[in-house]
Parts: sequence; C-alpha cells; structure tokens
Amino acid sequence: MNSAPMFRKVALIGFGLIGGSIARGAKSLGLAAEIVTTARSAETRARVRELGIVDRVVESNAEAAEGADLVILCIPVGACGDVAQEIAPHLQHGAIVSDVGSVKAAVVKAMAPFLPEDVHFVPAHPVAGTENSGPDSGFAELFINRWCILTPPEGTNAEATEKLAAFWRALGANVEIMTPEHHDLVLAVTSHLPHLIAYTIVSTAEELEGVTQSEVLKFSAGGFRDFTRIAASDPTMWRDVFLTNKDAVLEMLGEFQEDLSKLTRAIRRGDGDALFDHFTRTRAIRRGIVQIGQDEAAPDFGRRHKQLGKAPE
Ligand code: NAP
Repeated sequence: MNSAPMFRKVALIGFGLIGGSIARGAKSLGLAAEIVTTARSAETRARVRELGIVDRVVESNAEAAEGADLVILCIPVGACGDVAQEIAPHLQHGAIVSDVGSVKAAVVKAMAPFLPEDVHFVPAHPVAGTENSGPDSGFAELFINRWCILTPPEGTNAEATEKLAAFWRALGANVEIMTPEHHDLVLAVTSHLPHLIAYTIVSTAEELEGVTQSEVLKFSAGGFRDFTRIAASDPTMWRDVFLTNKDAVLEMLGEFQEDLSKLTRAIRRGDGDALFDHFTRTRAIRRGIVQIGQDEAAPDFGRRHKQLGKAPE
C-alpha cells in the first residue's frame, strides 16, 4: 500500500464496470484516503454498499463531489453534461474533474461550460473494457497494460494533468495525451467501427433463412463467437457512442464500405491474388498488436487476470 495517498477524497460518480474497477484498484493500492461513490439507482447504491469496496456510498452526485480533490464521472457519455451542471456548485477549489467516456469531443463540449474556472478539467478514456456492466463487473486489474488517453483542453493546468496521469499509471495503465478530436477519430476505427460491425453481423446471423439458430450457435467457433462477445456490450453506452461520435464514425464507415466493395469484387471475380495480399497485410497487423503486448497470441478463452502491481511511491 502507498504510504501517502495521492488524493484525499476521490468521488466516483457511477459504479459500473469502469467506476467499479477504478474503485477496486484505487482501494487496493491506497491511492485515496477516502473513496466515495454514488450511482443513479437505489438498487445499485445498495449493491455497492453490500460489496463494501468503497468508504462511503452517498445518495446524490452533489454529495459525492462535495470536498473531493478528484471527481471522476463513470457514467454514460450522454449523461455527462447534466451531471457536470448538477455537481458544479459543489466542486472544491482546485479539484480535478475527469470522466471515462469513450467519446471525448462531445463530453468536453457538454461538460466544460458548466465547470467553474477554479477546477481543473482533465477528460480521460481508459481504453479497456469487457462486455459486462454493473456494480459486480469491475476488477482491479482491468487497466493493467492498457492505454488511458487524456484529452485536456488547451490551457489546462499541467500539474493537474500530470497528477491524473500518475493516478492512471498507478492503476497499471499507460498514459497518452491527445486532442479530443484526434481521440475520436482513432477510436472510431479501433473501437466504434468494430462494435458496429459486430452488432450488424450478429443480427444478420439471427435473421438468416436457410441456416438454423442452433447451427449458428453450434458452429460459432468459426469466427462468429468473437463477434457475439463484442455485440453483447452495453446498449446504453454504445447508443451514446454512436450518437456523440457521429462524424468520425461516418467517415470511417465510408472508408470501410469502400474496402468491403474491393473485397466483394475480388471474391466475385475469383481474384485469389487480391484476397491473399489483403489477408497477408491484415495478418501483419495482428502480429504487431501481439508484439506490443496489447493481446496474447494464445486463443482468448477468457481473459486471464494479471496481478495489480504496487503503486509507484
Ligand atoms: P455501466 O457498467 O453500465 O455503469 C454505468 C454507471 O453509470 C452505473 O452506476 C449507472 O447507475 C450510472 N448511470 C447510468 N446512467 C446515468 C445517468 N443518466 N446519470 C447518472 N448516472 C448514470 O457502464 P460502464 O461500462 O462502466 O461505462 C461507463 C462509462 O465508461 C461510459 O461513458 C463508457 O463510454 C465508458 N467506458 C466504457 C468501457 C467499457 O468497455 N464498458 C470502456 C471504456 C470506457 P445505475 O446502475 O444506478 O443505473
């Protein structure tokens, strides 16, 4: 455990996969003297009390934010503006206010106008997740060896950005800083588009005539299974992602449709060389991902949890 906690009071607004994972990691590493959380529903708040991970579960967002030196919104992107407005009058002078939303430009636009001048707004996106949600789904090791992208608006206090970066590094993440717009473009192709494809292909298979449902399930290891895992992701979260990152997703979707047309043409014409060249290039990308440690070469039969390391002194 850390000898001196990084923060006096960390407020986690929302306790699902991401909020719950931050809470578990920060608690086990002693990153905060006190961790206070809240959630929208009484049911979730009751469950978080039962879990006994955080120091206090409070009834309102305002009460959670009161006196905190770090406030993190761990809620759907579409709710961030309203919650920022609600907590603004309760924020302590000098507090760091952050979020974990999967889209950044829209979150900055929704939150920034409500935040007082004397707090430091450092938006963040931990690029780590699973298809599970809710208070029981989090685990302390979720962020280990994953990236956390910070998108501080121009002029943000550098010390505050570094302090939040240190918090994420302590949770095991690697930190990168970029603009919200660039973040949204990169994530449109690496995360948002793949989810859209998975959502599409799973419903295509469901509506097929001539292939039974039981055949789809039985032979799912042929590639379909991996798509079903992604397509099981939280509907609220992903609705908000596509509503708030519309332009970047549409741009990437255009590129994708062009490439799909090229492959369609190669199949129709029986152009084996074109198919082989294409698949050779994509195989190299997969090997690159394994090489930089963002996945394991072994088949993914359930992610093995690694141990959360000691926080830097
Ligand atoms: P989650 O497991 O569904 O948890 C969401 C939490 O937000 C719950 O505590 C929920 O409370 C609360 N909440 C929902 N709607 C709200 C509202 N309108 N106002 C206030 N609180 C509300 O979600 P999650 O997966 O942790 O995702 C949270 C954020 O992390 C999202 O912005 C998402 O984009 C981002 N993110 C997710 C992943 C991922 O893989 N899941 C990865 C990186 C970033 P109740 O339980 O009471 O409804």
